[in-house]
Amino acid sequence: MTALSWDAKNQIAWSNVSQVVYIAFWYPDGVWGGDTCGCIDDRCIGYHHEAWEDCGCIRALLTIHRTELEHAMQDRRLEVKARRAAAVEERRARRRESVAAGAAARRGMGR
Ligand SMILES: [Zn+2]
Ligand SMILES: [Zn+2]
Repeated sequence: MTALSWDAKNQIAWSNVSQVVYIAFWYPDGVWGGDTCGCIDDRCIGYHHEAWEDCGCIRALLTIHRTELEHAMQDRRLEVKARRAAAVEERRARRRESVAAGAAARRGMGR
């Protein structure tokens, strides 16, 4: 596995993303296949930018990463909310059923 450069590590750290998460985001098998500068293209240095320049790709990639993570978190939050609402609805339905059953039983006894 290609080691990430000092700049790449710093960029990732500044984005509040762990290296493992960053790598797994682009390479689900957890093996970094990109360049050392943090670009997911394995030939970034010398192609996208010169070796002495900071990589612009990782900055853009981290922005995508952050946005997607935020969306994923939002989705998860909505999902939790929906699940909670469904559980409450189910409890209410069960309560309505037992009330109805009780009323029916009382009606039955009255007859
Ligand atoms: Zn690149
Ligand atoms: Zn690069």
